[in-house]
Amino acid sequence: MKLLSDNLMTTYKRLPVSFLKGQGVWLSDKNKNQYLDALSGVAVNTLGHSHPRFVKAISDQIEKLIHVSNYYHIEEQSLLAKRITQLSNLSSVFFCNSGSEANEVAIKLARLHGHKLNIDQPNIIVMEKSFHGRTMATLSATGSRKVQAGFEPLMSGFIRVPFDDVDSVNVIAKKKNKVAAILVEPIQGEGGINISKDFEAYLSGLRKLCDENNWLLIFDEVQTGIGRTGKWFAHQYTSIKPDVMTLAKGLGSGIPIGACVVNDQASKLMTIGKHGSTFGGNPLAMVAGITTLKIVEEEGLLQNALKQGLVITNLIKKKFNKNNKIKSIRHMGLMIGIELNQECNTLVDIALKNKLLINVIGDSIIRLLPPLVINDDEAILLANKLITTMTEFFDEKE
Ligand code: PLP
Repeated sequence: MKLLSDNLMTTYKRLPVSFLKGQGVWLSDKNKNQYLDALSGVAVNTLGHSHPRFVKAISDQIEKLIHVSNYYHIEEQSLLAKRITQLSNLSSVFFCNSGSEANEVAIKLARLHGHKLNIDQPNIIVMEKSFHGRTMATLSATGSRKVQAGFEPLMSGFIRVPFDDVDSVNVIAKKKNKVAAILVEPIQGEGGINISKDFEAYLSGLRKLCDENNWLLIFDEVQTGIGRTGKWFAHQYTSIKPDVMTLAKGLGSGIPIGACVVNDQASKLMTIGKHGSTFGGNPLAMVAGITTLKIVEEEGLLQNALKQGLVITNLIKKKFNKNNKIKSIRHMGLMIGIELNQECNTLVDIALKNKLLINVIGDSIIRLLPPLVINDDEAILLANKLITTMTEFFDEKE
C-alpha cells in the first residue's frame, strides 16, 4: 500500500491522522471528526485556525504582492519592525523565516560583539536542557544530546551551565573565559516547560553579569513570545531587558517568519552584507505579523491567555491534587507543562482517540500550547478531555 510518507525523508514520527480544515481551536479530518487543538502547531497558531480577520488580511496581501526581495524597501517590514520595537522597547529588527534562523542571527551578533572586544574565539554561555533549533549552530547551542547525536563535529564556542543557576555563570565569569554573550530561553519550552524558581532574580542575575562583563544578554523567546505566557514577551514579567531577543512561531500565526530584535548597541554590530535572507521579511509574512499583533491586542488575547491558563491548570490540579503520579504542574499563561513521575508517551495516542491534540516532551511531561483565542467553554472542555485521557492512561497502567 502506498503510504502518505513514501516520498518523504524520515525525520518525523507522525500520528495516524491528517487534517483538511481548521476553525478556531478545532481541526477536522476527512471524516469530519473534530479535534480540539491544544498544541497550535507547536505554539504557532496564535489566532487559532482560519481567523476571519487574519484570512482576509493575508488574502488581500496575496492578491497585491507576495515577494520582492530585500534589494528594495519593503514598507510592511518597517511597519512590523516599528510595532515589535514599540512592544519590546528595543530598537531594530532583522526578519527571517524560522526560530533557528533568528537564533543564527543572534549567534552571529554575539561573535561580532566578541571580536569587537578583541576576543578571537568568543564563547556564548548556553543552558542545559535548552532548545534553540536544528541548524548546525543552533543544535550546537542546544542542551540535548538527542538533538546533537550524529551531527558531530558540533560547532565550538558554547559553554554550557545548568538552567536557573546564576552562580554557575558567575564561576565562568570569574575564570575569565572568553565570553561574548549569554543565550537563554526565559522559560525552557522543549526542555520541559522549565520555569526558574525566582524569575526576576534569575534574569536580573544574568543581566548583572552581562553588564559587569560587557556580554550581550540574548533571550530566545521563539516559543514564549507573542502573548503565549500572558505578556507580549515572557521576560516582561520582570524588569529586565535583553540586548537581543529572537522570535518566530506565534508571530505569523502559521505563515513562516522569524525575527531577531536588538537594542542600539547590538544593532550597530551588523553592517551591509554581513547577513541576509532571500525570503526573510517578504510582504506576505510581514502582513501576517502585523495582523497577528493587531488582533492579539484588539481581542485582548494576552489577558485571555492568562485567564484560560488558570482555568485549565486549576481544573487539572483540582482533579489530580491527591494523585502522587503527578510530579508538578508548571505554567505561565497558555504555556503549560504537566510532569508525571513516569514515562507517558502513549498519552498522545489516547488523547488522539479522545479527539484532543497534545504532545509529550522529555518522555514524561505533557505539553499544552492551545491557541490564544481559546474561549471559556473550550478551555473547560480541553481540561476535561485531558482529565479523561490521563485517567484512562493511569487505569491502563494499574
Ligand atoms: N527556539 C526555541 C525556544 C524553540 O522552541 C524552537 C522550536 O521549537 C526554536 C528555537 C527553533 O525554531 P524553528 O523550528 O522555527 O527553527
